[in-house]
Amino acid sequence: MEDIGFMCARCGGEVHDVTHNREGSLDGVGYRHNRRVEPWDHELELAVGEPAPQDPDCDFCGAPEPSWLYYPTLDPDDTDMFEVELDTTHLSDDDTAVAVLNMLYPWYACDTCSVLVADRNIDKLIDRALERTPVAEDGPVDETTVRARLRGSLSVFFTTRPGRPQPSRAV
Ligand SMILES: [Zn+2]
Ligand SMILES: [Zn+2]
Repeated sequence: MEDIGFMCARCGGEVHDVTHNREGSLDGVGYRHNRRVEPWDHELELAVGEPAPQDPDCDFCGAPEPSWLYYPTLDPDDTDMFEVELDTTHLSDDDTAVAVLNMLYPWYACDTCSVLVADRNIDKLIDRALERTPVAEDGPVDETTVRARLRGSLSVFFTTRPGRPQPSRAV
């Protein structure tokens, strides 16, 4: 049973609303894809409808049928407020909000990425993601932005999920 809600008209994916603030600034609300890393091949086209159920892909590189799952260490149900050390130097407010949101959801990983995660090899993870989904010349964002976004999301991941992954079949 799917509820009518916000979706992306471009990819049919589910959309989250994200409220965020920084000290001394007003709350901001934004809408983002319900993905661990915002897709960089298209911009969100907000629409009301029934999001298509999507098979999980590797949240690091986008490969299909990921075999591993990293559970969040925070429980969104009893975590209204929390603090985390996060380098947001190169992140916009919106990307920061999404990075924090990602702390609350599981990440899927393919075999290759799970090895890179075990090595904490952020650079290789980013290279692999960009190899699989290159940044388009005339796309909505440039490669520098994509790399900063990936680095931000991955640094949140590594800050909050030190443990080993579970086989994703167990879900
Ligand atoms: Zn989309
Ligand atoms: Zn992967």
